[in-house]
Amino acid sequence: MSPDEFRRAGYAVIDWIADYWATVEQRRVTPADPPGTVASALPTAPPTVGGEPVEAVLADLDSIVVPGLTHWQHPGFFGYFPANTSGPSILGDLVSSGLGVQGMLWATSPACTELETVLMDWLAHLLDLPRRFHSTGSGGGAIQDSASSATLVATLAALHRASRGRWRENGIDRRYRAYTSTHGHSSIEKAARIAGLGADGVRPIDVDPDSQALLPAALRAAIEADLAAGDIPAIVVATIGTTSTTAIDPVPEIGAICAEYGIWLHIDAAYAGSAAVCPELRWSHAGLEYADSYCFDPHKWLLTGFDCDAFWVADRAELVEALTVLPEFLRNAATESGAVIDYRDWQVPLGRRFRALKLWFVLRWYGVEGLRAHIRSGVALAARFAEQVRADDRFDVVAAHPFSLVCFRLRADDDTNAALLAEVNGSGRVHLTHTRVSGRYTLRLAVGAPQTTEAHIDEAWRLLSAAADNLPTP
Ligand SMILES: *Cc1c(COP(=O)(O)O)cnc(C)c1O
Repeated sequence: MSPDEFRRAGYAVIDWIADYWATVEQRRVTPADPPGTVASALPTAPPTVGGEPVEAVLADLDSIVVPGLTHWQHPGFFGYFPANTSGPSILGDLVSSGLGVQGMLWATSPACTELETVLMDWLAHLLDLPRRFHSTGSGGGAIQDSASSATLVATLAALHRASRGRWRENGIDRRYRAYTSTHGHSSIEKAARIAGLGADGVRPIDVDPDSQALLPAALRAAIEADLAAGDIPAIVVATIGTTSTTAIDPVPEIGAICAEYGIWLHIDAAYAGSAAVCPELRWSHAGLEYADSYCFDPHKWLLTGFDCDAFWVADRAELVEALTVLPEFLRNAATESGAVIDYRDWQVPLGRRFRALKLWFVLRWYGVEGLRAHIRSGVALAARFAEQVRADDRFDVVAAHPFSLVCFRLRADDDTNAALLAEVNGSGRVHLTHTRVSGRYTLRLAVGAPQTTEAHIDEAWRLLSAAADNLPTP
């Protein structure tokens, strides 16, 4: 593809994306076709001779692929947590793709590293993170592909610290432990498994039945029991904004316990971290001065397309020591000088995309005030929805909603609530998902799409209310 062919095809693709956004609201949020529909519409082998115009691919996108999508950017998408993108994010990502540079070492593309370092400091300011996370102090930040990777990297650094670099050898007769609440994300267990801690490497700590937040006394008891058994507590993962209900673990109390026992504290704020751009929501981040590492996903609620996780450590030397392996073919003068950051030592893969570009485009397009307005709109829309649920005595709001997620259910049994969810999702106008709170089936409505307005919230409520009317009463 020559630059001129690219230019022509590229304009067509950008037009196609703009049309998609302009019309996404008219589509069903989730497809209704049975499994295999998309696969059976595709040829079984690639074309032998190339040269198909991009218009032919776009036509197949329209007829085969898009009808088989769940539209995460749809204003009626309220499932899981949002994963929203934006125009500037896409454009920044496009530039990254166009440049195609690898940022594994400073030397492999200096601007890729330096822009990322500066942007991570910008973000640290934006969220008002403790000074020690800034690159000007002992710490610093790097962009990971996901919060799961951030937790894995934090776990590896924590194990390195707890064992002075010998946890693989020591682990044969001494067991290293990780701790998180029963509402901690599944990626914490996955990280422990990958790190070789075994199936029972993670201690699930009980939560307060009202707040769904980790109970510090239960954490302390678990640590004491493991120490008494000769095991080594290596890491505690506290969550700000759990996936189930956006519960906020009591980080100040947890941090004090970690400090007392010398345990690494990682904060997983994958979704709710974005809220800290608003000063009035920073109370949710109390206790961060205790953290050894912290992460959040701009790809969830900060208008930056997947993948973009922002990860910081308080002591970058510990992290680099845990992860560095320097083969001869990567040796270079800049690395030896110690004057540069090589981000390959901050992550699992060697290669890395120029992800800072999409963040840069986003931050410059929206500015701090634009990002705050986005968060505030999500919080206000969720509050509006919760109000409607609360005003109807057939329903209960079952958890606090400090951010943009509302957990609620019908005053009925689990099966009736599951039937209600299936009924509203079947409309194709909205998509909600569910969780369990204190063992009971609970519906979740999470706001985040920039296109979502009060009208969409009100429509979601009308659909729920009407569906509740039509359910067989148990
Ligand atoms: C979404 C989520 C994750 C996982 O996020 P990825 O970036 O997809 O790995 C981890 N922790 C919490 C609390 C989450 O909500």
